[in-house]
Amino acid sequence: MKIIAYAVREDEKAAFAQWQGENPDIEVKLVSTELTVASLEEARGFDAIVAFQTGEYPADLFDRMQAMGIKDLSVRNVGVDNLNLASAKQNGITITNVPAYSPNAVAEFAVSQVLKLLRNAKAYDRKISQHDFRWAPNVAGEINGKTVGVLGTGRIGQVMIKIMQGFGAKIVAYDPFPNPDLAKQGIYLDSPDDVLKQADIVSLHVPATKDNFHLINQDTIAEMRDGAIIVNVSRGALIDTTALVTAVKNGKLAGAVLDTYENEASFFNHDLRGQTLSDPLLTEMLSMDEILLTPHIAFYTDIAVGNMVRVSLDSAKDVLTTGTAPTVVVG
Ligand code: NAD
Repeated sequence: MKIIAYAVREDEKAAFAQWQGENPDIEVKLVSTELTVASLEEARGFDAIVAFQTGEYPADLFDRMQAMGIKDLSVRNVGVDNLNLASAKQNGITITNVPAYSPNAVAEFAVSQVLKLLRNAKAYDRKISQHDFRWAPNVAGEINGKTVGVLGTGRIGQVMIKIMQGFGAKIVAYDPFPNPDLAKQGIYLDSPDDVLKQADIVSLHVPATKDNFHLINQDTIAEMRDGAIIVNVSRGALIDTTALVTAVKNGKLAGAVLDTYENEASFFNHDLRGQTLSDPLLTEMLSMDEILLTPHIAFYTDIAVGNMVRVSLDSAKDVLTTGTAPTVVVG
């Protein structure tokens, strides 16, 4: 049995080596190139592919895979919107993903950024680097006693709630499919608007569906409490960024934690040192003390990277040995 892994990063290699050690009968080849129709040639003679990229997996890729006798593509991430799933299905290629690599990684990051924002971290970092050791005027806020509104109580939202409760926050939440255990705590409100109206900190943990496009916009921001904070460690498309920046600048909102941005694709995880950014809104957010912007790194922990590698390889092995896997998306 032979598996080839594409777009392998240095930080993934230890996890690949560990899995290879546990599965000595399977040949695993690692390449650093992304999977394209051209680079697919490297997979000749292999039974399955493991990949991770934001670029497209086009229809003709699956035509070629079928012609080459490759039966499975296991992605090392959750999202499959960049795969032509219809073509995979037509060609009889099984697709698997990694549905949850570490909800804790994302929720812990969100909370740590909220703390940094409440503690005026950007202002203090700048002041301290200039040897300005004065306290005023940067008096901080606390999570304890605040109302945290959680939109989406799936895998990550649930961990967020647990951590925030540990800090002493009151939780209000909305999810069209409430979690029965959380419902017993009486945290669910009838609508997202009710959550926006009551929360000091609004945290989004929902998928980027068509219905959720610009869930936070000028109108929904107007519903929110004056001086509230928005947290988006989910997907950029959930927020109308221009409306958000305007609301922070005019004082309606106290600030925002953003690990995603609707126009992030050509910036995040790229080395743009020394370059002027071609996106004035992004440049403006980076200059603001009230907005903590990070390049989609909430998931990026040793545990999550290990899980992404292990689960994708396990899935490829399962498909090749049994014809299916618990993580099948198509097949
Ligand atoms: P999940 O599928 O487990 O939970 C999502 C929940 O949102 C579901 O319970 C669903 O019913 C609910 N929902 C959908 N639309 C809603 C709406 N309009 N209002 C309220 N609830 C709604 O998903 P998850 O694994 O918890 O992931 C949550 C988000 O985090 C996703 O957008 C995902 O892409 C993102 N994510 C980000 C990172 C990162 O590194 N920043 C990493 C992993 C996941």
